Amino acid sequence: MALKFITDESFKTNVKDKKVLARFDFNVPMDKNDPTKIADPTRIDEALETIQAILELKPKKLVLMSHFGRPKGKVDPQYSLEPVAKYLAEKLGQEVLLTETALDRGIKILLNLNESKIILLQNLRFHPEEEANDRDFARTLSTYGDLFVFDAFGAAHRKHASTYEINAFFKNTAYGGLLLKREIEALDKIVKNPAKPFVAIVGGAKVSDKIKIIEMLLVSVDKLLIGGAMAYPFLKAQGREIGNSLCSEEDVLLARKILGTPGKGKIVLPSDHIVSATFGGIPEEVGQANIPDGKIGLDIGPSTLQNFTDYLRPAKTVLWNGPMGLFENPNYAKGTLGIARVLASLDAFTLVGGGDSVNAVKMSGLSDKMSHISTGGGASLEYIENGSLPGIQALKFGID
Ligand code: AMP
Repeated sequence: MALKFITDESFKTNVKDKKVLARFDFNVPMDKNDPTKIADPTRIDEALETIQAILELKPKKLVLMSHFGRPKGKVDPQYSLEPVAKYLAEKLGQEVLLTETALDRGIKILLNLNESKIILLQNLRFHPEEEANDRDFARTLSTYGDLFVFDAFGAAHRKHASTYEINAFFKNTAYGGLLLKREIEALDKIVKNPAKPFVAIVGGAKVSDKIKIIEMLLVSVDKLLIGGAMAYPFLKAQGREIGNSLCSEEDVLLARKILGTPGKGKIVLPSDHIVSATFGGIPEEVGQANIPDGKIGLDIGPSTLQNFTDYLRPAKTVLWNGPMGLFENPNYAKGTLGIARVLASLDAFTLVGGGDSVNAVKMSGLSDKMSHISTGGGASLEYIENGSLPGIQALKFGID
């Protein structure tokens, strides 16, 4: 069975005067100093195209739903979708009515009124049934729509009531949105026959979170460049000195396991570093792979950046996940920004996935030079590991 999108004729011809229930990922980061202000609206902006495409087809109602933060199954005003409703109304130039809860009895009445075309359900995670993938909760949500649209790529790796179980109630009436379509098309260029040479760059902090993707990537990549705090467990496993750099014993064991696989020859590790005596303190260059006692590695050094650049130049497909250092501090951002600049200059398919590398690319001002920036960190990694996601499988094949 093929996955149907809202571009499908069966959607276009059916939607007029119908109620459309649509699941998005509006889980945007908020401003730390002003909790009513959205710090980065990218996820909402990316959903607008789908919302507008549905509205153009003149449905009777468009009921939007999303999770927001981690309220742990309880009503918590801190996680109200109110700022999202305001932002959407501004962008769409139309009223967006926020319900009191997703199970509000008034919703049924609202659905039959002529006014208020766009309704946003309050945070789904105010109800413990959402994360429990509860069938009755999914059934209630399903009564708000004749057709279902799923565009929450960033939540597609979750088996929750609104991402998974809900498909039990929309047999042949469930469609993917335009963001989901873009994400799948881009990720398939990595997962299915990537153009060669294929080079992956993995950075960030936790080996344990990324071990599966590294093992998977070692099968298909030509080179795997490892930077950031990810590199130290590998260097230590090779018998190098790493000073006081971030590294757990558990991660060294995982790194040792990877270095024992046939793909180990594809791994490229840093050969020099930017270090400091204290976390984020005065930077010093160390022109060798070993980090002296008492020093903390906080960025890749210039020779490593050059070496990584040389491997990237001929690449036709590049996947980047995780920064090369403590890039939030400008003293340790050169490696990460350097990689962003190299990717921007390549004639290749470049995909950036994972929260922090996306932030780094935004910081570099080079976002529009990348072929694709994934909106879902965890979701994009799981897609690459498994070739699909539960929310996409359920949408494609339905569930009983
Ligand atoms: P992750 O979520 O695993 O991609 O990790 C991203 C975080 O790792 C960012 O906040 C970086 O500042 C941090 N990071 C990257 N390299 C280092 C390093 N060498 N030392 C400490 N933190 C680092």
